Amino acid sequence: MDISFCSHTILQTDSLVVPDTLNDPRFCANPLVESSPYIRLYAGHPIRVNGFPIGTLCLLHPEPRTLNDIERGMLVDLATLAEGHVLHRIQNTHIRTLYQTLDAERHRAMTDSLTRTWNRAGLSYFGPVMVKESVSSGKAVGVMYADLDHFKSINDRYGHAIGDQVIVQTARRLKAVLRVDDVLVRHGGEEFLIMVLVNSADELAGLAKRAREAIVNSEFNCDNHVLSMTLSIGVTLKRDEEQLESAISRADIALYRAKANGRNCVEAG
Ligand code: GH3
Ligand code: MG
Ligand code: MG
Repeated sequence: MDISFCSHTILQTDSLVVPDTLNDPRFCANPLVESSPYIRLYAGHPIRVNGFPIGTLCLLHPEPRTLNDIERGMLVDLATLAEGHVLHRIQNTHIRTLYQTLDAERHRAMTDSLTRTWNRAGLSYFGPVMVKESVSSGKAVGVMYADLDHFKSINDRYGHAIGDQVIVQTARRLKAVLRVDDVLVRHGGEEFLIMVLVNSADELAGLAKRAREAIVNSEFNCDNHVLSMTLSIGVTLKRDEEQLESAISRADIALYRAKANGRNCVEAG
């Protein structure tokens, strides 16, 4: 016998609310009712993704209880929220799956040895993937071109090894503010290219702000030297008809503008 309540819910399009299981012939003899956890209230709503029922969101309680209209509405809202999360995960697992399927040798060839971010070979590989993903998800490819300000003076003053540590910590901080499917590339010495899938220019600007703040808001600690760094960023959304390389060039031009405008800022291009 199938003792699951949810197998009933999943078959319908609307919520299934059983205020008292003892009054419902489908459930009164159910082992989950007659013994622990002694379910009396059951309220479930099916979760559908791309038209297919994949599960339910449900509430259980050991005391009988009715749900008013507001509570029923909240159940539907929660299920809708869960559907959104599931959909988001499905849409965002592609890049993660690609990471995992790369064999060790290819992974190494596409990884920057100092920062463990992707290198230019990684960009060549993941760039087209991002573009494809943007088409299937209906989102835009956002490009951020980030460059540490006055980095040469760190090398000059503290030496190349400390400069390396600053670059490593910068990569780590950027990674920390990015999402798992965002692509972080070390594009040059102290320059990072970031590709993200976003819904709007505002969302991209928000991410760029967080990236800049991750560098600016706290000092770097490198072999007992405490250093304050700033970051300039150029951002742009790739246009539908445009090649990725062209969007990267526009982000680079926006970065130059950020430098010209006094550095430590984000400019959109
Ligand atoms: P700006 O604010 O205009 O970006 O000035 P900047 O000093 O950051 O930029 P500039 O291009 O003048 O200098 C970048 C320096 O980064 C020059 C180069 O020697 C150094 N560099 C490049 N790669 C590495 C690296 O891997 N490690 C270290 N320590 N330094 C590097
Ligand atoms: Mg620089
Ligand atoms: Mg530079």
